[in-house]
Amino acid sequence: MNMSHEFAREFRELVNLAEDFVYGPYRQQREPVPEQELDRDRGAVRRLLEQEILACNLCPLSGGRTQAVPGVGVLDPLVMVIGEGPGAEEDRLGEPFVGPAGRYLDDWLRAIGLSREDNVYITNVVKCRPPGNRDPEPAEIQACRPYLERQIQLVHPRVILAAGRIAAQFLTGSELGIGKLRGREHSCYGLPMVATYHPSGVLRNPDWRRPVWEDLKLLRSILDR
Ligand code: SF4
Repeated sequence: MNMSHEFAREFRELVNLAEDFVYGPYRQQREPVPEQELDRDRGAVRRLLEQEILACNLCPLSGGRTQAVPGVGVLDPLVMVIGEGPGAEEDRLGEPFVGPAGRYLDDWLRAIGLSREDNVYITNVVKCRPPGNRDPEPAEIQACRPYLERQIQLVHPRVILAAGRIAAQFLTGSELGIGKLRGREHSCYGLPMVATYHPSGVLRNPDWRRPVWEDLKLLRSILDR
């Protein structure tokens, strides 16, 4: 190799080194992140959010709870069920919609081909049990609101099902009763949303079974379109 070739080779190596130094970080940023890595990241964000909720004392409901109840289910579910707040059993077990109302909700989901294990995420508007199962106060709902909004963004469901008046009013921003909010499709944070009666209310009022079935069929038709 003569001197001019040797010089050219060394010069090219120097240019490559300089390019790597200047453009290297940008090249790395442009590389697509593998899907499994994104899922791992979302799983980690989900765990951090749950820990934040478990340690939260932003409103007076933290004083009477056994534990906060963040939510259960899969990421990217077909349906995200949002109820009102944990009851006594949920507070004891740390899981939303357990006990008779929870089993009834599972029946509803099964009737339209869904299950909480495979394609549903379940949570509540407030994550701590209101004492005596009273309605959560507006200030408590507002304190807990950012958690639900972050969950909706992170979980990213295809459709939201609001179970009961409190969830339906919160998600629609309306003061109408559940009888007026159910039976049609709403838009909530850019996602389709259906409201229906709360399973515990339907257990007490069998007349509501027919409208619930209509709402579930509406939910299924949104998923199928
Ligand atoms: S209800 Fe929500 S805001 Fe209130 S203490 Fe529990 S997690 Fe925090």
